[in-house]
Amino acid sequence: MPTAHNGDVALSYDRAGPSDAPTVIFVEGLGYGKWMWQFQRDPLADSYDTIVFDNRGTGDSDCPEGPYTIAEMAAGAAEFGHDYLAITDHATGPGMVGGVGLSDAELRDQIAAIEDLDASIQVLAGVETNVDADGDLSTGDDVLADLDVVVASPHSGLGQDRETATERLVRAVEHPEVDILGHPTGRLINDRPGIAPDIERVAAAAAEAGTALEVNADPRRLDLDGDAVRIAIEAGATIAIDTDAHGTAALDNDRYGVHTARRGWATAADVLNTRPFDDLSAFLD
Ligand SMILES: [Zn+2]
Repeated sequence: MPTAHNGDVALSYDRAGPSDAPTVIFVEGLGYGKWMWQFQRDPLADSYDTIVFDNRGTGDSDCPEGPYTIAEMAAGAAEFGHDYLAITDHATGPGMVGGVGLSDAELRDQIAAIEDLDASIQVLAGVETNVDADGDLSTGDDVLADLDVVVASPHSGLGQDRETATERLVRAVEHPEVDILGHPTGRLINDRPGIAPDIERVAAAAAEAGTALEVNADPRRLDLDGDAVRIAIEAGATIAIDTDAHGTAALDNDRYGVHTARRGWATAADVLNTRPFDDLSAFLD
């Protein structure tokens, strides 16, 4: 990847599109990985010459979005004015490719590291584990029990029929260690529709089990969508707004999650992570 300089800072950049076209320049902040560049750039690349700068200046196009340490994420969250941050790295399992995801042993190490962390805000040890096609989780129950927060998300089997998908997600929300069902449909905007579960049934089960349903603030996801949020709230379920941030700047995506939740008429009272830390802890226990 070519590099330019701004004073002492090396900026790596990437360009695409017809070179005789008007130019659009993206200057990306920390945490916007290459996938985000592509998400923003690709629709423009037919008509514009787009130049994308990675202002971290790493020049590492294979891994532009990290890794960020837990301490860096906590400092970033503190800068955003947050009182607490949940670290929910992926667990290895169905839908995780290329060695992505932590094993049970690695999660145990991460729990210990978070306990030793000296951060200015509360940092919760968590995981985003995988809900397999049958509704089983890919992390051991003993590890889940020792984590502060367990997000369980479908990352595979996203072509399932409605009934199978609904039963799968109901099983996940009823798992005693699961606190939040992550991006319940698994849709990726402009990419795949994901599953279409009966949200009413999933939400009723979630309300009964005390499991929150996620609104994922990643601009590629925004799932649950507004209509589903409205159904979930009417069923008595709690909403969690999650940035899905893989770096500090993406913490700013929470605005998209808030807007999406508002489209479903959610108020702060419906949203788990508007609550003070003690109330959050009580929900997670
Ligand atoms: Zn996920």
